[in-house]
Amino acid sequence: MLQFARTCESIAATPAKNEKVRRLAGYLFALDEADLEAAVRFFTGNPFAQREQRSLSLGGSTIVTAAKHVWGVTDAQLGSAYREHGDLGAALCGFVRPPADLGFFTQTLTPAWLHVLFEEVAQASGKTAGKKRLVLCERILGSCRDPLEAKYVIKIMTGDLRIGLREGLVVEAIATAFTAGVDHVRRAVMASSDIGSVAVAARHGSLHGVRIAYGVPIGFMLASPVTYGGSYRELERANWIVEDKFDGIRAQAHKYGDQVRLFSRTLNDISHTYPEVMQALRTIQQDCIIDGELVARRDGRVLPFRYLQARLQRKTVTADLVAEVPVAFMCFDILAAQEEFLLDEPLLERRKRLAHIIPDNDSISMAASYELPSAQAGEIERRFEDARARGHEGLVLKRTDSPYHPGRRGKWWLKLKRELSTLDVVVVAVEWGHGKRAKVLSDYTFAVRGKDGALLTIGKAYSGLTDAEISELTPWFLSHRIAPTAAKRSRGAIPVEAEIVLEVAFDIIQPSDLHESGFSLRFPRIVRIRQDKPPSEIDTIDRVNEIYQQMLTREHVPH
Ligand code: AMP
Repeated sequence: MLQFARTCESIAATPAKNEKVRRLAGYLFALDEADLEAAVRFFTGNPFAQREQRSLSLGGSTIVTAAKHVWGVTDAQLGSAYREHGDLGAALCGFVRPPADLGFFTQTLTPAWLHVLFEEVAQASGKTAGKKRLVLCERILGSCRDPLEAKYVIKIMTGDLRIGLREGLVVEAIATAFTAGVDHVRRAVMASSDIGSVAVAARHGSLHGVRIAYGVPIGFMLASPVTYGGSYRELERANWIVEDKFDGIRAQAHKYGDQVRLFSRTLNDISHTYPEVMQALRTIQQDCIIDGELVARRDGRVLPFRYLQARLQRKTVTADLVAEVPVAFMCFDILAAQEEFLLDEPLLERRKRLAHIIPDNDSISMAASYELPSAQAGEIERRFEDARARGHEGLVLKRTDSPYHPGRRGKWWLKLKRELSTLDVVVVAVEWGHGKRAKVLSDYTFAVRGKDGALLTIGKAYSGLTDAEISELTPWFLSHRIAPTAAKRSRGAIPVEAEIVLEVAFDIIQPSDLHESGFSLRFPRIVRIRQDKPPSEIDTIDRVNEIYQQMLTREHVPH
């Protein structure tokens, strides 16, 4: 591990990315297979293969206790060293005493050997697990022959090397060391979720043979917004596949052997929440990874998001709930099929592959799509209105030739939405913001006018105004505070004179007892300050009702 640690120092010492890659590649090239596999994982800050999704479970306190036992570090010494360095590895390494002095007769610590010890730590279980982990941690620290070695061994254990090395650079270093294509290495890492075994495959020239890690989620590809009513010039530059923009939640399904798993956009396992979808996925005839949207759907009709919300908020999913709000998985992309990783195939091809394997039943369907050649870009708004009439949020346009870029938002996929409507409202209470907005009043509770002229709150908005506008409004609000009435006192909210009129856009209006108006807005955003409008002319509760009724009518247009 000494050589590993020296390489880390050398990488940390240069800010130039190419030089970091070159230094790392030189080190990797010289390693034997077992060390290569382990060391490459360590460079990405992971003690194990990512696909194993397990952690070391070695907290800072265990490491500190082990250091106290092995090197006789006192609390006072540790405290001042930690204050100086702010990093456990750097703080503790000054206390290292060579194994021979400690009476330790240990094997030289290599990446492969450290990995074996880490395996033992992770396997410790039962009542004595804590004790076992401590003993192993003492053994690891006691094996360090040199402060530098200890510094980086501890950094691996705490999960962050802090040498300015992103996974992308480790991928480049593997490619450089073993003369492989960077893209090939990157794809293999994505497919296998184990950079260690990819490095070994790269050395053997067998990247194509890397197996897909079913059961480990891959990052989701995201869409960039196109402005409704804009020029749509970008649409004229390519051919597109057009899909409805479903108002549900994004999910990735993995089907492998008789196993099925569903992951959310935050890569959490959400399998247990959608039993009917899981059952439908089981009927797919081959191993695959599918991207799609979970929606509430009854009798073939997609229902608005608020139906799905009833499912999201429940911890246990009963048969009654499944019957009340049935969920379906609308599939629109395929990332892997059997042992083939399909990310580099053009979308048109991927969709064909998908269409072959997706059954069509109550709980799973292929998302409908059509092609929009560049020449027909002018028709997009008509198509958009059709989608809205079918009850969808808008459209998602995807270039027919697009590869699947995990975790990226680019111009390959575009989303076209339009706010349901806007309301002119008046600010009635304000709150201090958070983070960089902690010193300004940036959160506004706003109201519409009730039948008797009284102001009725309907929502709260945090976004839409510029920093300059917020800074200008803050002193105005501070000098126009009013005393809260007993009924309206709410923690943190400062009632202000109802003078500032805002235009607020939103996606959906829904009944809610959170606000005095009996309605709330989903995703409210401030469009602008309406200096041209006095508070006497803001929108009324009747207007809110009208928009709500229109929304319901739109929802009920059959497919
Ligand atoms: P937004 O949440 O407005 O940023 O829009 C992006 C989201 O739209 C994605 O993360 C998906 O959850 C959702 N979506 C709905 N329909 C589709 C579709 N056909 N293709 C891709 N994403 C979709």
